[in-house]
Amino acid sequence: KPINERQRLPVVPQGIERDDFLKALAELKGQLGAEHVEVNDKPLRDGWYMEHPNTHDMMTILDEEELVASAVVYPSNTEEVQEIVRWANKYRIPIFPISMGRNLGYGGAAPRVRGSVTIDLGKRMNKILDINPEDYTCLVEPGVSFYALYEAIQEKGYDHMWIDSPDLGGGSVLGNTIDRGVGYTPYGDHWACHSGLEVVLPTGEAIRTGMGALPGNNTWQSFPYGFGPYSDGIFSQSNYGIVTKMGMTLMPNPGGYESFLYTFQKEEDLAPLMEIIRPLRISNILENVAQVRHVTQAIAARGLPRATFFSSSGPIPNNIIHAAAAKTPVGDHTWAYYGMSYGPAHIRAHKLALVDSEFLKIPGAKKIDTSTLPPDEYFWARDRVAAGVPDIHELRWVNWTPNGAHIAFSPVSPIRGTDATALFALGKAAHDKYGIDFFPAFCVGLREMHLIVEIVFDRDDVKARKAALDCLRDLVDEAAELGYGEYRTHLVLMDQVAKTYSWNDGAIMKFNEKLKDALDPNGILAPGRCGIWPKRYRGRGWEM
Ligand code: FAD
Repeated sequence: KPINERQRLPVVPQGIERDDFLKALAELKGQLGAEHVEVNDKPLRDGWYMEHPNTHDMMTILDEEELVASAVVYPSNTEEVQEIVRWANKYRIPIFPISMGRNLGYGGAAPRVRGSVTIDLGKRMNKILDINPEDYTCLVEPGVSFYALYEAIQEKGYDHMWIDSPDLGGGSVLGNTIDRGVGYTPYGDHWACHSGLEVVLPTGEAIRTGMGALPGNNTWQSFPYGFGPYSDGIFSQSNYGIVTKMGMTLMPNPGGYESFLYTFQKEEDLAPLMEIIRPLRISNILENVAQVRHVTQAIAARGLPRATFFSSSGPIPNNIIHAAAAKTPVGDHTWAYYGMSYGPAHIRAHKLALVDSEFLKIPGAKKIDTSTLPPDEYFWARDRVAAGVPDIHELRWVNWTPNGAHIAFSPVSPIRGTDATALFALGKAAHDKYGIDFFPAFCVGLREMHLIVEIVFDRDDVKARKAALDCLRDLVDEAAELGYGEYRTHLVLMDQVAKTYSWNDGAIMKFNEKLKDALDPNGILAPGRCGIWPKRYRGRGWEM
């Protein structure tokens, strides 16, 4: 039978006998209800984005069985999360929390340690606890998706408030934010926009951060800091706690908006374009987390497989991509800048005129008349997302290969021509070496940009998976040699990326490990996440 049809024995966390594990699970069933504890003995089915698995990574880069859960549990409230954590401590069972598990490109729903018990918080803890139309804030549980928050605000008729969504709206507002994900309105830096967390610590106590620590306060979602050390930071991209509630700020409806699209003809236009973007972005004339995208990804975003254009192996040649681009309504180009201007028409006019005069200084630059673009053109997906409307059009480039999966290389740099050029050259050389098509997109924050390079591969093809991973491993090390580091990474690369942050003999990891040992003495919570291993795992061959 094919692997996705086979019944499987449950994976057991290392160091525990199968029977002891099943007995411990039976005890947990008694606490949570049998229907809220599921053993992972079923076929590993990948589904698709909206019906994704919670037992493994549907876009796996390793063999699918490598990073799988032994069981999945579904708490309904903070107290049940505390019970699960105490249970894990009692039996020394690794647990791995997910909010919704759509962390595609970074590991999906998979745990870092095979056989961990996944805590799927999103299934039952999916309430919007508050939407405050006066303070423009909300308080959400882990299972609230960008779609759900958007729809709730629409239903209540709160037209004066917007949310900010990443490219795909099916993820968790909380999960995306604590992984420091990004969206595309002026509120695109999600972590910077959150205010207040409720967290279950690895020993089972619950805390509230910021103003949430003061009983009876009414500023938990308005003032993020509270008093004393600002602790929220240690609960993002870490394994120090399970976040059960999060406050988020909402953007005021700007009173109008207008997307725009400029194209640039040559690869070398990247450097002067970045020099133009930087002052405009820092001074907020360019207002949102915009994208500067390469034409190869633009062609892939049309949803047709690569084989439509090119059937040989090796990177798709430039002339084929440009010929394909020439036939699209946007026309031939190498780079496209997707941006949005906010506010009433007269305010936008001033900003747009400045942008226009600056962008058109680059020879061959074109402003696209977007009114001529058909409704299913990719531009309109960017338009929706930059206006805070969740979408899933972005998934289309994953169809580039059969059984399309992807993994991301995401270094950060200042918004500079020299940095953009260096990262582009580095990425291009590595992709050429491994025969992979290169999809670079620069997401421009306020003073930095994330270069997001998506490697699309056939997840059923062992060679393609290996090439993608080898390429990424080279990229991480070569980027670090030039001084660039990743803002976020896939589970499989976490050890490698963590090692690149090595200043002063790895002082930051020593600090992280001290915190881990103090907060999680039994090392049960998400061991290895972000390269942080608890004491009982360290130096025992867990690193990849
Ligand atoms: P989860 O998978 O639930 O959480 C992410 C991770 O955080 C988990 O693996 C877990 O380790 C940790 N975690 C989650 N919840 C908790 C908790 N309560 N307590 C402790 N730890 C927790 N991402 C972007 O940011 N911006 C984009 O524009 C973007 N575009 C994408 C485009 C495509 C085509 C694809 C496929 C992916 C894209 N992604 C993007 C990546 C990903 O889809 C999103 O970041 C998504 O929101 C993450 O999944 P999630 O929200 O379900 O989080």
